[in-house]
Amino acid sequence: MINLSEFSIFFIANWKLNGNLSFIKEYTQLLKVNSSNGNCVVICPTAIYLNNFKQNEGNYYLGAQDISKYETGAFTGEISSKSLNEFGVNFCIVGHSERRQYFNEKNEDVKEKATKLLENEIIPIICVGETLEEKKNNSTLDVISNQILKGIPSESNEQNTIIAYEPIWAIGTGLTPSIEEIDIIHQSIRKINNKISNYKIIYGGSVNAKNSHDIISLSDVDGALIGGASLKIDDFNKIIG
Ligand code: PEP
Repeated sequence: MINLSEFSIFFIANWKLNGNLSFIKEYTQLLKVNSSNGNCVVICPTAIYLNNFKQNEGNYYLGAQDISKYETGAFTGEISSKSLNEFGVNFCIVGHSERRQYFNEKNEDVKEKATKLLENEIIPIICVGETLEEKKNNSTLDVISNQILKGIPSESNEQNTIIAYEPIWAIGTGLTPSIEEIDIIHQSIRKINNKISNYKIIYGGSVNAKNSHDIISLSDVDGALIGGASLKIDDFNKIIG
């Protein structure tokens, strides 16, 4: 299993339901990963393409966007952590707000999925974040605390689990919290409990080539989860460069 403490900054590319074979071929030819600077770049395509990346592997790691909470059995359409491990996948996003919103994923599901991932030596990237309404109600920290306390398994620690703070209202909208707000919320997340105070906590939500530097320069931000901008190879190269 990868030891997270070996890296300083994480860049996780979440392709969502985008990409195809020719896109992958061009993307991997143009992708410029500098592995000597302590950066960890993870590409998360749709599961069916994971193996195509393996064939082209460069200085980046592979991640899945979701996983079954089941290991084996009569669960049509599911993919297990064990099979991800067989394909050399090192990371997996869990509890993304789109999974919570469109597929009714609950904190308890997130915990079960993360547990299965850890059992199979895969790093869970556990997503948390508030809606705009929750932000307006000043309940951001309550929402995140609940997601963290209920969604992170006891087997997790700072070397094997990443937390991604993603305000839902910032995902795919072009809106972001201010740099000061990101700084404060990341500091506050670390204080939710002692166990997570030294976790790698990355920020996600409309990260792009213009704002990424300021965001990842914050001392309590350990990287970024990037959706839309990770599909534009020139922008993504600038973000990870
Ligand atoms: C995401 O998908 O997690 C995300 C942050 O998307 P975007 O960068 O497009 O806001």
